[in-house]
Amino acid sequence: MLAITRSDVLGQLKQVKGPDFTDDIVSLGLVSEISIVDGKVFFSITVPTGRAEELELLRQTAEKVVTAIDGVNSAVVTLTAERKHGTEEKSMFSLRSAAHKQLRIAPRRPIEGVKYIITVASGKGGVGKSTTAINLALALKESGLTIGLLDADIYGPSLPRLVGIHRRPESHDKKLEPLEQYGLKLISMGFLVDEETPMVWRGPMVMGAITQMLRDVLWAPLDVLVVDMPPGTGDAHLTLAQQVPLSGSVIISTPQDLALADARKGIEMFMKVGVPILGIIENMSYFIAPDTGRRYDIFGHGSVRLEAKKRKVAFLGEVPLDPQIRAASDEGRPIILAKPYGLHAKRYRDIAQVIIKKLEESPIPNHAKGDKVLENVSGQYNNPST
Ligand code: ADP
Repeated sequence: MLAITRSDVLGQLKQVKGPDFTDDIVSLGLVSEISIVDGKVFFSITVPTGRAEELELLRQTAEKVVTAIDGVNSAVVTLTAERKHGTEEKSMFSLRSAAHKQLRIAPRRPIEGVKYIITVASGKGGVGKSTTAINLALALKESGLTIGLLDADIYGPSLPRLVGIHRRPESHDKKLEPLEQYGLKLISMGFLVDEETPMVWRGPMVMGAITQMLRDVLWAPLDVLVVDMPPGTGDAHLTLAQQVPLSGSVIISTPQDLALADARKGIEMFMKVGVPILGIIENMSYFIAPDTGRRYDIFGHGSVRLEAKKRKVAFLGEVPLDPQIRAASDEGRPIILAKPYGLHAKRYRDIAQVIIKKLEESPIPNHAKGDKVLENVSGQYNNPST
């Protein structure tokens, strides 16, 4: 079977008329960048603000015609609102209309006031991704940066437990105020829905929820938004990669083969959609017995470093297995705060420094031209808070 190409998809989408039936959605320049991964097609259609509900049929039609292409297993189409204020926006829009004639596709839209967006991802659950994400976010904050953390795990949000808060965010003018704890701005589905109420999420709802947590939250101003991804390589990842310019992804793996094989899939997926891999972290790397100080390489320490070398991606460091990490998480006070002078805190800070350095060199920062990038933060720590 031939691989599906973007022009196959665009060709098919030419059958779909735009919101006011003046022309088709491709010629009108309304189709965003198209991602095709393993027979799944993802893109969004720009529609006038406030008309998304009315245009649901347009979205479904686009989904249907793309799914009809031979070799396409599924299509995920979202509607995004057109931005329309200020002359700059207008000129961008006319640029886009001029570009549509050459079938140019709309760029990913940055989040205003957020300089860099990075994801923390893992191929499978239970490898310590969320634990790493919160500790890294705090380590980045200690370097003097303003940091947000978005828990994108819609099915199993862990942020409320990790930071020990269960309040609801307030909203202003239809925008959510992120919660603040330990100097971080935080959003999680766990703050928005009752933990006891089981929610049945369907694919498009997951994507809608992630889009809202990105766009409808008062994040700005932020140096870095850290997104704690759900485990695996599902729709959430592609939605995110397609919606916003990601500066990079940090992959967490344990040394076990299985976790590695899954991590490999994660790396491939991010690479396919053009997201730079900032590096891999080996979590639960080895165990030091608290009583004897003896070290045990229980899961086969070192295999993640080897894998990183093979894949030519950076190895960011090892975080040993330690029951204190779990205890700290369970108490809602991450280890970097609970034991600021311990080995783990140091490891997370070292990794954060590498990430900062890589972001400063990042080819895809999430900021507008002329914005200041991270300045003079490498190597500087505030005193770790206790
Ligand atoms: P994930 O986000 O990958 O599902 P979590 O961060 O929720 O994983 O971690 C799973 C469990 O492992 C949690 O109980 C957490 O406290 C624990 N954990 C994570 N990293 C370590 C570590 N290095 N040492 C000991 N326990 C850890």
